[in-house]
Amino acid sequence: MKISGLLLILLSICQLSPGQTHGEKPSFNLGLPTDNAAIFSRDPSKFYMYTYRSFEGVSSHPWTAGRYGFVRNQRRTSHGIIFTRFHEGIDIRPAHRDKNNQPLDDIRSLADGVVAYANKVSGRSNYGNYIVVRHDWGDGPFFSLYAHLRSISVKKGDPVKGGSLLGKLGYTGAGINRERAHVHVEFAMMLSERFETWYKKYFTSPNHHNIHSGLNLSGMDIAGLFHSHKANPSLTLPEFIRMAGAYYKVAIPSRNLQPLPITKRYPWLERGRDPGEFPAAWEITLSSSGLPTEIRPYAKKITRPTVTWVKDSPVSHSYNTLSRLSGIGSKATLTNSGQLYIQLITDTF
Ligand SMILES: [Zn+2]
Repeated sequence: MKISGLLLILLSICQLSPGQTHGEKPSFNLGLPTDNAAIFSRDPSKFYMYTYRSFEGVSSHPWTAGRYGFVRNQRRTSHGIIFTRFHEGIDIRPAHRDKNNQPLDDIRSLADGVVAYANKVSGRSNYGNYIVVRHDWGDGPFFSLYAHLRSISVKKGDPVKGGSLLGKLGYTGAGINRERAHVHVEFAMMLSERFETWYKKYFTSPNHHNIHSGLNLSGMDIAGLFHSHKANPSLTLPEFIRMAGAYYKVAIPSRNLQPLPITKRYPWLERGRDPGEFPAAWEITLSSSGLPTEIRPYAKKITRPTVTWVKDSPVSHSYNTLSRLSGIGSKATLTNSGQLYIQLITDTF
């Protein structure tokens, strides 16, 4: 008895990854990337950098366009003004400038992690100079991305702590100048480890950023995450992601009756499958921006990706889904770009 008990303990210890204590995941911690902490203040305009807007002959520079979400490209419809362009991160104003208005802010890692990618050739991306840091709290890899940097002081493979210096705030990349200098920050899931194959199949321009292209990183509501995490420090990322509202569901045939590769990275995405059940199809739930929030077995047999549900909308679904769906009301179909997107998420290309 004594020996088998000891063996059991030894076996369970051997299954732990380094740094983990028995039965616990590393705790999920999050800090702000610059000295600008006005996200928690009563005046968010001190936190977010504005953009320039010209709409129906009126010019403005709304700070609200620096938030995460559908905050850009206004369009008047018979159901009022809507925003059709999605901003996948937040634009944080500099907290420090010199007398020539040059931003001086340090950019720091949001949390412990490893530098996964650093783009130091600013002309190769709309993000300009940017860094991607990979974090893992036991629920799969998550990625923070810091864009438009003036300089980068880390390299791929460097381990970083929450608060470690990554670089300096700047204004590299498309559509940005000294006045509008900011750091664009995203917090994302990775869609496919075979992104480069998918990209080569459908795009002719070179991909300089391997699997760390913005196209392969699906950003979540990072400002909502800061607020939710502050209100409830024990909140987990799967819990937070499931809070993102469902906008549509797509069923796809199950290849070789196997779980989808994305659920190997994010096992918590898959729900409702009995042990030993190998369904003929899967149903993926997505937010309006395309963040996958849940994957379940789908009972009906299908031959190709099919929209099985969409949130009722009085305006075209195209506006609400980055043009991945067409249709209106309770009817929707995948557009070409929607089909390519589903292929990327499901590794079926
Ligand atoms: Zn931005």
